[in-house]
Amino acid sequence: MQHDPVHPVVVAVDGPAGSGKSSVSKEVARRLGWGFLDTGAAYRALAWHAEACGVDTADAASVISCLDSFDYRIGTDPTGYAVHVGSTDVTRAIREPGISGVVSQVARVPEVRSHLIELFRAIMAAERRGGIVVEGRDITTVVAPDAPARILLTASEEVRTARRSAELVGHSASATGQQLRARDAADSKVVDFMNAAEGVVTVDSTDLDFDETVEAMLAVIRDAQVRTG
Ligand code: C5P
Repeated sequence: MQHDPVHPVVVAVDGPAGSGKSSVSKEVARRLGWGFLDTGAAYRALAWHAEACGVDTADAASVISCLDSFDYRIGTDPTGYAVHVGSTDVTRAIREPGISGVVSQVARVPEVRSHLIELFRAIMAAERRGGIVVEGRDITTVVAPDAPARILLTASEEVRTARRSAELVGHSASATGQQLRARDAADSKVVDFMNAAEGVVTVDSTDLDFDETVEAMLAVIRDAQVRTG
C-alpha cells in the first residue's frame, strides 16, 4: 500500500452504535497522519436539516425533498473536525439523543443512501493525505468494498451501552441502552453491520481498552500493507 497522491489508501471500518468506531478510527487516522471520515455524521446532519426545515423525518418523500437544499460540509482532519449544514456548525447538535432517535428513519431511504454514498466517494477521492479511515455501517460492503483494509469493530451490547452512557452525561443508562438497541435493530434492516462480510477482519473490543483497540486496528492495517505491498 504505497502512498499514491491520486488514490489515497482507504481503511473501511463498520460497526454498531457504541462500538467506539468513531473515536478509535479518528485516533488511528491521527497516528497514521491520514484523513478521517465519519459517515454517520452525514446521516445525522441530514436528520438535523430535515427537522430544521420542519419536515417529518418518518416520511420518505419529505426527506427526499430536503436533499436538494442539504448543503453539507465535513472536514477530514482527525485532529479538529467540524460538521456544517450551510453556515451552521452542527458538530454538537447532531450528537443529541433527539437526532439519534430519528436518524435511522432518514438513513433507511434508498435515495438518501445513494446521494450520501456519492458524496462520501467524492470526499475520499479528494483526500490529499496518504490515506483515509472511513467509518460507518456499509463502508466495508457498499461504499468501499475494494478497500485494502476492511474492519468490523464490535463489542458486546453491555459494553457498548456502558460506553455510550459515559458519553451522554445526564441520560440514564437504561434509556441509552434502549435507544441503542432500537437504533441497531432499525439500522440492521437496511445493512448488515453485525456480521463480517468476506475478507473483512473482525476486531472485538469487548475486553480491550481504547489504546489496545487502536493497536489492534493498526495491526490489521499493517497486515494489509504487507499483503498488498
Ligand atoms: O455512526 P453513527 O452512530 O453516528 O451513525 C448514525 C446513524 O447513521 C446510524 O444509526 C445509521 O442510521 C446511519 N448510518 C448509516 N450508514 C452509515 C453510517 C451511518 O446508515 N455508513
